[in-house]
Amino acid sequence: MTKIKLAIVGLGKIARDQHLPSLAASDAFELVGVASPHNVLEGVPSCKDIESLLNAVPAVEAVSLCTTPQVRYDIARFALQRGLHVLLEKPPGATVSEVNSLATLAHEKQATLFASWHSRHAAAVEPARKWLAGRNIRNVAIHWKEDVRVWHPGQAWIWQAGGLGVFDPGINALSILTRILPYALVLQSSELRFPSNCQTPIAASLLFNGPARMELDFLYPGAPRWDIDVDTDSGRLSLSKGGSEMRVDGEPVPLPPGGEYPRLYAHFADLVQRKLSDVDVAPLQLVADAFLCGQRSEVAPFIEA
Ligand code: NAP
Repeated sequence: MTKIKLAIVGLGKIARDQHLPSLAASDAFELVGVASPHNVLEGVPSCKDIESLLNAVPAVEAVSLCTTPQVRYDIARFALQRGLHVLLEKPPGATVSEVNSLATLAHEKQATLFASWHSRHAAAVEPARKWLAGRNIRNVAIHWKEDVRVWHPGQAWIWQAGGLGVFDPGINALSILTRILPYALVLQSSELRFPSNCQTPIAASLLFNGPARMELDFLYPGAPRWDIDVDTDSGRLSLSKGGSEMRVDGEPVPLPPGGEYPRLYAHFADLVQRKLSDVDVAPLQLVADAFLCGQRSEVAPFIEA
């Protein structure tokens, strides 16, 4: 099979940690270029922006947009206008309307748009979805807590408008929940805690139908908690480590091998081959809802160093 010629836009932490290794091991994609304002990749044509890159490497067929969310929309529009297939890192945009407009454009251009949610490719997600199907859910508890200084060092964009703050990791939990629960989540209330010097929250408490209670904390010391517990009328499902481990009533469940990003790219290749898009805005919509009806309080300023 001829490999799809792909470029990465935004050579930051996630591009280097996950996209580059997954592409190097992929049978379906070949990395042919990089566009990033302040970074180059040795041995691969690198330009400062997507337009210069497409001029230098016209063979590009697909792009993975690994930029900060605030700049993703304009770059995605540009790529789709050129008829390229587009993978959006999560969150797929700064607003829901941006993502909906990209989906329309992709349809018009007959290009694939993949609004990716990497946590949905964690090993436990599909087994959890199957286990929960047909069960009556009594209670859901989500704890998504990590130390922002450890996991997002120097990422000032997280604290700027559109950067989501603690919802940057929290949306991963919502991407799992909206996939595994056999009913549609509806936000009932939210409390958002904003550092006095930031535009986005550092902690949040959310209540959904179900009931499902979610606690997000960006100042959690030590080992992170990325846990979801679902109590049903016939047992408790527990996902831990971001959906990579699963227990039923405390007993570990064997899971398929392989990582999130290799599966994510396999799905992208399948979408391109089948001329389909995969755009689910539900996790982003729930975050938007939390901002829409959130009760805001101000907490101590966030000083990174
Ligand atoms: P990051 O390390 O700050 O990298 C963001 C990159 O975006 C920077 O390297 C920057 O390139 C690039 N960029 C900014 N404006 C650009 C533009 N106009 N054109 C092209 N590139 C531009 O952030 P990150 O952690 O990789 O996160 C990026 C996205 O991936 C976020 O949406 C995040 O939620 C998601 N994500 C992150 C992780 C994680 O563990 N970090 C995991 C999964 C998903 P220059 O440095 O060259 O200026």
